[in-house]
Amino acid sequence: MTRPYNFSAGPAAIPEEVLQQAAREMLDWHGSGMSVMEMSHRGKEFISIYEQAEADLRELLAVPSNFRILFMQGGGLAENAIVPLNLSRGEAADFVVTGSWSQKSQKEARKYCEVHIAASNEADGHTSLPTPATWQLSGQARYVHLCSNETIHGVEFQELPDLKALGCDAPLVIDFSSHVASRPVDWSRIGMAFGGAQKNIGPAGLTLVVVRDDLLGHALPICPSAFDYKVVADNQSMYNTPPTYGIYIAGLTFQWLKRQTENGLSGVAAMEARNLAKARLLYDFIDQSQLYTNPVAVAGRSRMNVPFRLRDESLNEAFLAGAKARGLLQLKGHKSVGGMRASIYNAMPLAGVQALVDYLRDFEKTRA
Ligand SMILES: *Cc1c(COP(=O)(O)O)cnc(C)c1O
Repeated sequence: MTRPYNFSAGPAAIPEEVLQQAAREMLDWHGSGMSVMEMSHRGKEFISIYEQAEADLRELLAVPSNFRILFMQGGGLAENAIVPLNLSRGEAADFVVTGSWSQKSQKEARKYCEVHIAASNEADGHTSLPTPATWQLSGQARYVHLCSNETIHGVEFQELPDLKALGCDAPLVIDFSSHVASRPVDWSRIGMAFGGAQKNIGPAGLTLVVVRDDLLGHALPICPSAFDYKVVADNQSMYNTPPTYGIYIAGLTFQWLKRQTENGLSGVAAMEARNLAKARLLYDFIDQSQLYTNPVAVAGRSRMNVPFRLRDESLNEAFLAGAKARGLLQLKGHKSVGGMRASIYNAMPLAGVQALVDYLRDFEKTRA
């Protein structure tokens, strides 16, 4: 059986090899007689799964030793509160707004600290990347927040800003939910990164936090203990029961990532090369077509989430029905922006993007 190609923005496709391995191990993990879901999080079996997942992620993303990797719960949206609870000290934070997700982040942070908008692309409908040299950093911020890939608007930072070069000593916080592990991360420019797992690493319910040591231990007194990064770090993410099955699937995904090769590269570098090729194939087709358009300025286009529209929107329903009939699933755009969106995360092979482009071409021909 070949499965359809799934373009969901999230929860999103998981590599088929990972799903197959999880299925094989469902009833009896490595002769333990237990499913991973049935294991104590403090038993030696699960501890080995956890330690392997953490070590593999550290290797894949080249996380330096002065950063802690935390496996938490709550998703990206909970982090919008957890970050200011841990880092703001009740003072101020700067936000760079480039789409719906960073917009939500700055709104939530207002409950816990003063918020200053350093830059925003709202005026052009979140279709461009504000150049760091133009940012109005406040100088008082305890941290600077940005969303490095805006999942809904399809805007991605191709390079993280060097805050120090902009005269700012505050740590940069990135929401990398929807492109984590799709490209290398420049940790020298970051104080912490967070992301929900359900876009690029596993099932919903697991939230990844990578935080520099010196940022631990400054939580506000009202911060729930289970969300205090220092408490979580001091307890190896086991202060409360972590999302054990999500960690297991993420761990299988990390092992899958380590096996990937492309142009002589491996791991995340291989994924980056493949993701570049996938994105180029799709954007190039959209740009030359008469029927489809992508609104995002070329320099800010996401490799992961490609929003596009049909110039004749009365064709939307027929387009989606035809796609589904061809085994191309979940192409409908986010309700806040309409149109279509193809999310082409790590688990989407080049053949899936080629199948989409073939369909786009055929659909356009029949409507010409
Ligand atoms: C999906 C997403 C979130 C929200 O994650 P939840 O798990 O629903 O809380 C936050 N930020 C970005 C960039 C996302 O893509």
